[in-house]
Amino acid sequence: MATPCTHLNQIQNVHPTTKGCEECLKTGDRWVHLRMCLVCGHVGCCDSSKNKHATKHFHQTQHPVMRSIEPGEQWGWCYIDELELDF
Ligand SMILES: [Zn+2]
Ligand SMILES: [Zn+2]
Ligand SMILES: [Zn+2]
Repeated sequence: MATPCTHLNQIQNVHPTTKGCEECLKTGDRWVHLRMCLVCGHVGCCDSSKNKHATKHFHQTQHPVMRSIEPGEQWGWCYIDELELDF
């Protein structure tokens, strides 16, 4: 059994702030998959994308939990616990 994430109380009722990765949209870069920060709604690209903006967002803000906003994907991730979350 995995240890339950203790950061779920930081999750806010957020909506994606941008339609794509915020930083990649600015620079004209491409991404593979999109992840949304569940604390502030920042949209960043996944670790399969070359810029890894979702992970960079965590390092910059310490916002620990994100979820996939790919169609049909329900999972999330806590960067601190390195734990997959179900929504
Ligand atoms: Zn956690
Ligand atoms: Zn990006
Ligand atoms: Zn955030």
